Amino acid sequence: MSFTIHGLPVSNGIAIGPAHLVSHASLEVSHYILPQEKVKEEVARLDAALEKTRHDLASLHEHKPQYAAAEFDAFIDLHLMILQDEHISHAARNMIKGERCNAEWALKVQMDDLVQQFESFDDAYLRERKTDVIQVVERILKSMNGHSAHGLPEVRQDVQPIMVAHDVSPADLIQLKPQQFAGILTDLGGATSHTSIVARGLNKPCVVGLHHARELIKDNDMLIVDGAQGVVIVNPDKQILADYTLRHSELELERQKLKRLKTARARTLDGTDIALHANIELPTDLPDVTENGAGGIGLFRSEFLFLNRETLPDEEEQYLAYREVAEGMEGRPVTIRTFDLGADKQPAGAKRVASNPALGLRAIRLCLAEPQLFKTQLRALLRASVHGNIKILIPMLSGTAEINQTLNFINAVKMSLDVDGIPYNTDVKIGGMIEIPAAALSLQAFIKKLDFLSIGTNDLIQYTLAIDRTDDEVAHLYDPLHPAVLNLLAHVIGGANKANVPVSVCGEMAGELAYTRLLLGLGLRQFSMHPAQLLAVKQRVLTTNLPEISMLTQRLLRASDPMKIRELIDRLNG
Ligand code: PEP
Ligand code: MG
Repeated sequence: MSFTIHGLPVSNGIAIGPAHLVSHASLEVSHYILPQEKVKEEVARLDAALEKTRHDLASLHEHKPQYAAAEFDAFIDLHLMILQDEHISHAARNMIKGERCNAEWALKVQMDDLVQQFESFDDAYLRERKTDVIQVVERILKSMNGHSAHGLPEVRQDVQPIMVAHDVSPADLIQLKPQQFAGILTDLGGATSHTSIVARGLNKPCVVGLHHARELIKDNDMLIVDGAQGVVIVNPDKQILADYTLRHSELELERQKLKRLKTARARTLDGTDIALHANIELPTDLPDVTENGAGGIGLFRSEFLFLNRETLPDEEEQYLAYREVAEGMEGRPVTIRTFDLGADKQPAGAKRVASNPALGLRAIRLCLAEPQLFKTQLRALLRASVHGNIKILIPMLSGTAEINQTLNFINAVKMSLDVDGIPYNTDVKIGGMIEIPAAALSLQAFIKKLDFLSIGTNDLIQYTLAIDRTDDEVAHLYDPLHPAVLNLLAHVIGGANKANVPVSVCGEMAGELAYTRLLLGLGLRQFSMHPAQLLAVKQRVLTTNLPEISMLTQRLLRASDPMKIRELIDRLNG
């Protein structure tokens, strides 16, 4: 039977292929009863997974990374102990035999029991060990399903399937980069959640916020994903399939044509040069940056270096990564944001679970609360600054006090390098992100104290409208064209331009064609976006006449009726 599901469009394009259901939360396991003759086999399956997990943990001991933290061995030992706990092995085995349930379910039930016991401890340290129990069980489940270490399926070489997941973390998704999914669908998530941002970076059609896709779609159902419209057609009829196959080839042709603009100068019809920079998550994104002719890197989300690993990267490892990017860009600007961990990007072993993580210890707040981590990163960044045109960008600053604290900290790190006789660029530029309304409204302090600004519209919209960007239930209220957002943008861009302080937008708005002219009209001259969006935005820049759009932009700023705003945007883009 053919049917259609609607979600939030994240990444343009059309994908056609068979569904491949995955569960990131490997703990969302199914429960089924086995025929008696399968019980023995199921116990053997559990035992094999336990043995494989034991082997994997033991080999982590043997191949300990050089930079492993002092607690590394103790951490592995603890996981080995949990693995041998009788809840995990004996009790799960007995449950399979007694209840004829599948091994995954037995493990999950035993894990819940053990977690409950840990939760009842008074001692905070012991209470926190429940996270280790969950991690161990996740490991076992992954090896049981033949999944790779990150819990997502290995690539199928024959066809390009479409991933259908309830939710995927940005950390898991980023590991898929070299792999080949034709498209990505998730039940949860908002269009500017970090998961969506990473999906966009993969340059695959993606729809999120589908609510029930994982229940409605079955493995190998034929799917059409229309990433621009946020529509998924399940088991389409022949005519629909033919129409979309044609549209797919047309889009591919358009994409090929855009490639011709790679070396063209991004200049408006009236002769104003516009800087188009790229956002990256890892040094491995560099080829995409060059392929799409970016003039620099406007945002390197350095926190991705900290994800998907048991220990944090040390100074040397970070230095090498920053140096690689700086050298790869051959003198063009490389803006590296200090790590924005917390909220939906938690490193392994993160102990804090805030009741409201987006408002919690995130980004610069975490850096200032963990000075050792911050110092390590700053030393690495400053050391790398002699190898190219590195600028340092600080996320989530709220006002003067944090700016002062941060700048003092950076000065102290510079002094420590002086003492050690290590060279760095003494004139390295320090910028601040404007992503909290308080920052936008304290603009003068930012202008006075910092060398450049970068507007993070994803968070600025989230915090201005009080809409969790990761929550699909309120995603329809996430509105970049809300008058409050537009006026904050106009205030920041106009104020920075007046003071001659460079300002860019590095949130998702910068890569959305629908907003290119609006941002140009507000005075923006530097955009940073995922490399895949760059050439289309360049094409829009090339066909824009700034004096012509200025009046309409001013009218947009004065409008308050959503219908009127949309009408004006259409005229701007017409
Ligand atoms: C933003 O908030 O717009 C931004 C660029 O930062 P991130 O999306 O990583 O929070
Ligand atoms: Mg942000």
